[in-house]
Amino acid sequence: MYTGRFAPTPSGPLHFGSLIAALASWLDARAHGGRWLVRIEDLDPPRCMPGAADTILRQLEAHGLTWDGEVVFQCTRTEAYREALEVLRRLGLAYPCSCSRTDIRAQATRMGCEGPIYPGTCRMHPPLAGRPHAVRLDTRGAVIDFTDRLFGTIQQDIGNALGDFVIWRVEDIASYHLAVVVDDAWQGVTDVVRGADLLESTPRQIWLQRLLGLPTPRYLHLPLALAPNGQKLSKQNLAPALALETAAAQLTRALAFLGQAPEPGLAEARPEEIVAWAIPRWRPEAIPTAHQTIS
Ligand code: GLU
Repeated sequence: MYTGRFAPTPSGPLHFGSLIAALASWLDARAHGGRWLVRIEDLDPPRCMPGAADTILRQLEAHGLTWDGEVVFQCTRTEAYREALEVLRRLGLAYPCSCSRTDIRAQATRMGCEGPIYPGTCRMHPPLAGRPHAVRLDTRGAVIDFTDRLFGTIQQDIGNALGDFVIWRVEDIASYHLAVVVDDAWQGVTDVVRGADLLESTPRQIWLQRLLGLPTPRYLHLPLALAPNGQKLSKQNLAPALALETAAAQLTRALAFLGQAPEPGLAEARPEEIVAWAIPRWRPEAIPTAHQTIS
């Protein structure tokens, strides 16, 4: 059965950029007669804002975006992530790394899409036992091809573009990539609909799925809403929180952003009527690929 999900990090309330991802994944799930799950990605305690998870759930409700089943909190899932780490260790592909950011900057000879590329130092010279360490994944030969429903064929040589990436952090928590892959499979997610800022993360997630013997969902990445300074609208650049009272107007704006041509006057309807109007009219092929600046 089609199973979609929305997986916010509770670092603050939802803003217009997060509404686009929530609405598109909800509509895609509902248009397929599928389930839509909510997973709160609270892996990293310093990034979580007290009360934000609750606020996010109230915002989703106010926008008519109802979810199925219990909300899953990643902070309850550590054991499952540890088991996955063990599998990767047994495959001989996970290795401890005690390099700091400064070490990596000093060792790197190339820049990748997320900064200096780790040259695999600790893979070749294991750190002394007992030193605090992260765990990295050997990415040599990891070339991934996949078809995104909107952006088409994407190919990435992970070793070349990013190098061996962290799967378990020095703070003793699973990395975002490992946790997402384990949870998407455990929750039976068949379709991931999310912002294009994660397009470059998808090959790493597919690589992990393959190593762990997990199915690969279909992917649909969405154009980004940009702040006037050209950055992705985010909590960091102070995108305003979605107000519960303006849900109808924001939903209509989000539908227009997604190329779904809301009919005139739709913003006068109640939020649940707006999202119900949009289900039978959902046309993912009408979503523009260009990012758009929000004033
Ligand atoms: N938690 C991630 C975020 O808030 C999204 C994860 C995902 O959709 O895979 O950016």
